[in-house]
Amino acid sequence: MRPARALIDLEALRHNYRLARSRHGGRAFAVVKANAYGHGAVECARALAAEADGFAVAFLDEALQLRAAGITHPILLLEGVFDAAELDEVVRHQLWTVVHHDPQIEMIESRALSAPLHVWLKVNSGMNRAGFLPDRVRGAWQRLNDTGKVSDIALMTHFARADEPDVATTAEQIAAFDAGTRDLPGLRSLANSSAILGWPDAHRDWGRPGILLYGADPMPEENHGLLPVMTLESQIMAVRDIPAGAVLGYGGRFVAEVPTRVGLVAMGYADGYPRSAPEGTPVAVDGKLTRLIGRVSMDMMTVDLTDLPDAGIGSRVELWGRQISINRIAAGVGTISYELLCNVKRVRFEYLG
Ligand SMILES: *Cc1c(COP(=O)(O)O)cnc(C)c1O
Repeated sequence: MRPARALIDLEALRHNYRLARSRHGGRAFAVVKANAYGHGAVECARALAAEADGFAVAFLDEALQLRAAGITHPILLLEGVFDAAELDEVVRHQLWTVVHHDPQIEMIESRALSAPLHVWLKVNSGMNRAGFLPDRVRGAWQRLNDTGKVSDIALMTHFARADEPDVATTAEQIAAFDAGTRDLPGLRSLANSSAILGWPDAHRDWGRPGILLYGADPMPEENHGLLPVMTLESQIMAVRDIPAGAVLGYGGRFVAEVPTRVGLVAMGYADGYPRSAPEGTPVAVDGKLTRLIGRVSMDMMTVDLTDLPDAGIGSRVELWGRQISINRIAAGVGTISYELLCNVKRVRFEYLG
């Protein structure tokens, strides 16, 4: 059997959720959109079921998948509904839904609903991506209330730069949110992972931790005690010695300066390991650090075993996890851990704990 796999440590996931919840105070949605950032939404939600206050997903189908798996918690649709018919499903499955623009209010006005909605009204406090501007929030709140079809209107916003502790944007967004929602009743939710870690002023009734649940610290300059949940790993499937001067792999990107022992690893970009990984990207073979050499191909990649004489066919190769920080790999290819995690596919997923 091909040894490429993603090991998912559900005990680490629970540890990270507890840490987020206690750091934030109050309650916390476990954000499990995009298949729990590539970790498996149903498995992760089940693993958190005993302690999570609720879950958040991007859209209806992701919520229905959790309901079908027996998750009975509150589930928030972060993008809200895309058409009025989806409101029937929201009611049937007792979902909570974000309202971020006028067309979604019109959908509620126009649709006959069999039960009232639990709505989270989204404030655009400065990110300018979604939500009502602070001076429009009261009007939107009133209009929603006037539909007579909502039982609860909670208030939320989202930060553009909460992972940058030295930038004023987040404090300004908090102030804009507070100004626009002053005197309005209802629960509040402001903080994503980085605001949970770095912006206590943003801690209100509900936190919305995403990436930190998966142990990829969005502010890694400080150790917050998160545990990586995914280990992406495989094995050496073949070994070959190449002489000085030999070129290796597609495009001949790697040229051996000295006689080189090359380990062929069963992992490629079709599994989600980034093709753009540069020469020298760290990998761990049997727990020892070495480096990627040559281009990553679809199904395979090559690593340097010259200084690891004990490594051979069957040696374990960690691409990221406890030993190799996914943040390190992401930085090397100009992206963020989120994108790498969401891209993992084709490998076997094995759940521990
Ligand atoms: C994805 C998302 C989150 C979680 O963000 P992280 O940075 O992963 O913690 C929180 N709130 C909203 C609205 C989101 O879309």
